[in-house]
Amino acid sequence: MPAQRLDGRACATEVEVELLERVSSLKDEGVEPHLAVIIVGDDPASHVYVNSKVKTCGRLGIRSTHIALPSSTEEATLEHHIHDLNQREDVHGILVQSPLPPHMDEEALTDLIAPHKDVDGFHPQNLGRLVQGRTDGMLPCTPSGVMRMLRWANIDLEGKRAVVLGRSRIVGMPAALLLAARGADATVTVAHSRTQELEAVCKEADVLVAAVGRPDMVKADWVKPGAIVVDVGINRVDDDTRERGWRLAGDVDPSVADVASWLSPVPGGVGPMTIAMLMENTVRAAEAVHHR
Ligand code: NDP
Repeated sequence: MPAQRLDGRACATEVEVELLERVSSLKDEGVEPHLAVIIVGDDPASHVYVNSKVKTCGRLGIRSTHIALPSSTEEATLEHHIHDLNQREDVHGILVQSPLPPHMDEEALTDLIAPHKDVDGFHPQNLGRLVQGRTDGMLPCTPSGVMRMLRWANIDLEGKRAVVLGRSRIVGMPAALLLAARGADATVTVAHSRTQELEAVCKEADVLVAAVGRPDMVKADWVKPGAIVVDVGINRVDDDTRERGWRLAGDVDPSVADVASWLSPVPGGVGPMTIAMLMENTVRAAEAVHHR
């Protein structure tokens, strides 16, 4: 039987329905949730992501401010924008779209965002809380979207062996922490480019989260029959059969659907959940300020 679909679009729609109500309650109390997004340069994929975030804000009644700066922008100018948005009481969430141009220190700049407005969840204070096992703060959107999707599918993680393929600050590491946190209670292995016998490690997983950025890397024979597989990867691969000349591929080969019990599609899996969680963080930030 082919794997069931971990349908990120359906789950994101449920999250949106919930958020519409929370936004409406905030507005009844005179608060308009407001997300500011800064983008530097003209990377086409980043502009697509930002537009889609702005569009989702519009759908949910969240105000958005879109600040687009040229790639030649000096770091000091971006710092100035961040400080200004930190000060503004009407702005609840600030996001600096990655990647920044090479002359900018992305980590240092995102560290300048006030932690309570850090809707990406990358500030050391927010990641530090997660390391402490406190999962009620600003969580990084992609990993928290993965967790929400697993909950949506009623998957019980307790005692399960989870393998996270990838150890990045934005996906792999926080995903591992969330899977191991109290309440989720999985037993977690983090694999990366120095891991030996990677296929065998993956094959031990009851839950496999792939976040490597290598198209179709995880093959069907790396996966334990019946495993739950979450494909975080978003990779552009050349494809002459498409009019635009490329297609999106995940990190998981589609043939894994013949072995796994659940598989998230690309597109339509983790991608929509990432945006939904960004919206939730923004609403949460607005609620926190209001109820302080
Ligand atoms: P990074 O490049 O920051 O991290 C990739 C990780 O994979 C690293 O830990 C790296 O190991 C590991 N890795 C790379 N190659 C191999 C290999 N051959 N074998 C084992 N491990 C390997 O990527 P991100 O975490 O930022 O993103 C991962 C994927 O997720 C990308 O496709 C990205 O586009 C996608 N993504 C999707 C999002 C969504 O909304 N769906 C959001 C964010 C990212 P090492 O640390 O040793 O170098």
